[in-house]
Amino acid sequence: MPYSEERITSTRRWSDKTFTFTTTRPEGFEFKNGQFVTLGLRPEGKLIPRAYSIVSEPEAEELEFLSIHVPDGALTSRLAHSGPGDSVWINTKATGSLTFEHVQPGRTLYMLATGTGIAPFISLIRSDALFEYFEKAVLVHSVRTVQELAYRDEIESRISERLRYVPTVTRENHDYACPIAQQPYDNNQRGADMFRSGELFSILDLPPADPEQDRVMLCGNPAMNREMTDWLLEHGWTQTNYKGVGNFSVEQAFVTTMSDNDD
Ligand SMILES: Cc1cc2nc3c(=O)[nH]c(=O)nc-3n(C[C@H](O)[C@H](O)[C@H](O)COP(=O)(O)OP(=O)(O)OC[C@H]3O[C@@H](n4cnc5c(N)ncnc54)[C@H](O)[C@@H]3O)c2cc1C
Repeated sequence: MPYSEERITSTRRWSDKTFTFTTTRPEGFEFKNGQFVTLGLRPEGKLIPRAYSIVSEPEAEELEFLSIHVPDGALTSRLAHSGPGDSVWINTKATGSLTFEHVQPGRTLYMLATGTGIAPFISLIRSDALFEYFEKAVLVHSVRTVQELAYRDEIESRISERLRYVPTVTRENHDYACPIAQQPYDNNQRGADMFRSGELFSILDLPPADPEQDRVMLCGNPAMNREMTDWLLEHGWTQTNYKGVGNFSVEQAFVTTMSDNDD
């Protein structure tokens, strides 16, 4: 595997559980908006590799990543304490199923994320190509606490008639709501539930999502991805896979071990 030794150039804490870090970029490394790479540290010489979505755009000088901090996680217990100048090894083969080519072009692209699953979507909304593929885009981000609404300021600065942002916070009372919602809504519920109940469309004054015209990308915890995938398949949507490009595409934000509670 082609790992390149790079340096961390900056870090930013969002919450006790999440942080962003930037790195130097491997020479000649190419990727598409929405893809992920494997990166890691070598604490005792042996590489601890983990998958990470790339937040930055393909043209960016540096690479940017949004990370969870798992206190006893093999990688992130160490990565969370790394800083500018520290080494990080980045595999220069990028892949993933959340690029613009992974769903058919369409009317509205719904991007449903939980937690760090927002990372690939930040890369997508930074791209001018977003509105070459879709007329509108809706970014739904569900987290447990308000602090975990990473990139909130940047997303808000990009909001327009064409790009909507619906943050929801499930474990904390808060008064933060979609800045251009047409009507009040319960912002303590999960974004995926709002999609399935149809409330998402009414608060945005958009027609209900239609598999013929609209597209969906999922990047969430395994439970959210599973529930949404089952629901979409039951409601006439087609998932992109090796047989062809459908109208929805899925990526895991992380994988769980048997003992995990993945809500
Ligand atoms: C395709 C793909 C893309 C990924 N992209 C990212 C990303 O952009 N940012 C990121 O932080 N992680 C991402 N992950 C998860 C990442 O690979 C690691 O699991 C994470 O960095 C934790 O590593 P660790 O060694 O500290 O703990 P691990 O031993 O890998 O994980 C321990 C446990 O922590 C929980 N966990 C792991 N990652 C997360 C997470 N992101 N959010 C909530 N709980 C988690 C799970 O329950 C897991 O079983 C991605 C995973 C996949 C499969």
